Amino acid sequence: MLGVRGGLPELAHHTLLFTRDWTANFEAIFTPPTTIPAPASIYVCRPSATDPGAAPEGDENLFILVPVPADPGIGAGGIAGAGAGDVEATADRAIRQIVEWADIPDLAERIVVRRTIGPADFADDLNSWRGGALGLAHTLRQSAFLRGRNASARVAGLLYAGSSTLPGIGLPMCLISAELVLKRLRGDTSAARLAEPL
Ligand SMILES: Cc1cc2nc3c(=O)[nH]c(=O)nc-3n(C[C@H](O)[C@H](O)[C@H](O)COP(=O)(O)OP(=O)(O)OC[C@H]3O[C@@H](n4cnc5c(N)ncnc54)[C@H](O)[C@@H]3O)c2cc1C
Repeated sequence: MLGVRGGLPELAHHTLLFTRDWTANFEAIFTPPTTIPAPASIYVCRPSATDPGAAPEGDENLFILVPVPADPGIGAGGIAGAGAGDVEATADRAIRQIVEWADIPDLAERIVVRRTIGPADFADDLNSWRGGALGLAHTLRQSAFLRGRNASARVAGLLYAGSSTLPGIGLPMCLISAELVLKRLRGDTSAARLAEPL
């Protein structure tokens, strides 16, 4: 996460920087021995492009998402470069990538706030398995009826909502998951969606 002095009109609210070698990128992340892809395909969010409250007037706020292996050994992030070596090196590379690919030569000098979050933070702060940021992948054996159910098989009345249960990852899915839990509580077995609250 970066706070940047001055404007960044070169970036849209959502910017995706894709590497040409797509396969190598995925292999680095998923095929053991895993490594942090360099360059990585990154997502850059500039919320201050549309939300004036996200940064002081005239300045910008960036959130950069760099896909890395689900490995807490990569380390935790920190403030102003205080994170683990691999995490900070990954952030440095991502900043250089934006400088070069989006043609913003003075970006690095204009950064006044810098905070990183690494897989160890996800493991320590959020109890996420292997420091993964997204929960169980939607592979065949972890999807549909093969994915963990919303109701515990061991503890009566214990229900689950969220990305690691049905139907899956992402905010829309997690909201459907909450809907499934509510339906279970009400004994509603219909496939229809819930009425929206007034
Ligand atoms: C960087 C990033 C970008 C994303 N972008 C998108 C996107 O653009 N669109 C999209 O749809 N989805 C996106 N996602 C995925 C989406 O955020 C998740 O799928 C969703 O937030 C998961 O919701 P959840 O309720 O299962 O878990 P969480 O939102 O992680 O909530 C779990 C909560 O439980 C708390 N907790 C953990 N352990 C304990 C404990 N022992 N006691 C009490 N509380 C505890 C945690 O602190 C946390 O607040 C993104 C995820 C990440 C990480």
